[in-house]
Amino acid sequence: MEIKFVENKNPKTMPAEDTLGFGKYFTDHMLMMDYTPDKGWHDLRIVPFENLSIHPACTALHYGSEIFEGLKAYRRADGEVQLFRPIENIRRMNNSAERLCLPEIPEDLALFALTEFVKCEKDKWTPHKKGTSLYLRPFMFGNDESLGVHAVKHATYVIIASPVGSYYKEGINPVKIMIESDDVRAVRGGTGYAKCGGNYAASNRAGKKAEDKGYSQVLWLDGVERKYIEEVGAMNVMFKIAGKIVTPKLTGSILPGITRKSCIEVLKKAGYVVEERLLSVDELGEALKNGTLEEAWGCGTAAVVSPIGELCYKDVKYTINGGKIGEVTQKLYDTLTGIQWGEIKDEFGWTVVVK
Ligand SMILES: *Cc1c(COP(=O)(O)O)cnc(C)c1O
Repeated sequence: MEIKFVENKNPKTMPAEDTLGFGKYFTDHMLMMDYTPDKGWHDLRIVPFENLSIHPACTALHYGSEIFEGLKAYRRADGEVQLFRPIENIRRMNNSAERLCLPEIPEDLALFALTEFVKCEKDKWTPHKKGTSLYLRPFMFGNDESLGVHAVKHATYVIIASPVGSYYKEGINPVKIMIESDDVRAVRGGTGYAKCGGNYAASNRAGKKAEDKGYSQVLWLDGVERKYIEEVGAMNVMFKIAGKIVTPKLTGSILPGITRKSCIEVLKKAGYVVEERLLSVDELGEALKNGTLEEAWGCGTAAVVSPIGELCYKDVKYTINGGKIGEVTQKLYDTLTGIQWGEIKDEFGWTVVVK
């Protein structure tokens, strides 16, 4: 497909790298593409970053037809910029699209669009400091100009980019987590495995409640029995129990994280036993009480890993690994960040340099 380019004649300046934070600043351009049933995907274009103009009846605003992805472009020491497993994001976006009746994007077209956009923005906007990156946010929304409830006809695909600071500017500090027993994030048969905005909207209340009580995030339980552990905040979760790694299996209500998948592959290669299975909150409670819960961490693109230092279960607070980051958590962090920033050899073939 042809790609049209409209240059931004009023380019911004890249902010100082230690002030970046997360998702505050955006680059000079954005990528767009439209879908209609008769034309398919068409009008692929890179245009100046600007507000979108949408009809007030736009489907996404009323019926929540919106999906997104999140990945990063990393600057290596030699100046090259690389992506981490971008094809996984593309495939997941298509799975999300299928669930929400949004149009899928052929993989080669999605990869072409992403790399053309990164080529355009990377030199100016990929920061250099340790731990920083250019965060890429592809998203798609139903864009019909009608209030009728039906599968979407017109969809719009956009990629925006934001230079972001290091997640761990002040070092990796383990977080406090509260087990949520009222609200649920998702149910089997619902949209839990799709990366859609609605899942986030439904999570906010519990997240806010946890924050008000002095916790960083909640540990989600399954929506049917409120018994099995699913995720932590907007991250997947892993535990080291009596030497083995245990992570909830993908039942349909859990988001299949690329960091989760990568952690499992790194751990297996390092010789750990990794069990993807149901893990009940009572089993976890037992492990907390008898001291066999050795480590716990969340994993996702933003943080890579986020160690859990304290867990509140049935109003009793338990400290994990003395409130410090554990050995396996640290090893995963070092291995994944090492591959992502090109500091160690990528034995898995996960990185894609964009030239
Ligand atoms: C995006 C996301 C994750 C993490 O996925 P990664 O591909 O590892 O970034 C985990 N849980 C939820 C709910 C998410 O939205």
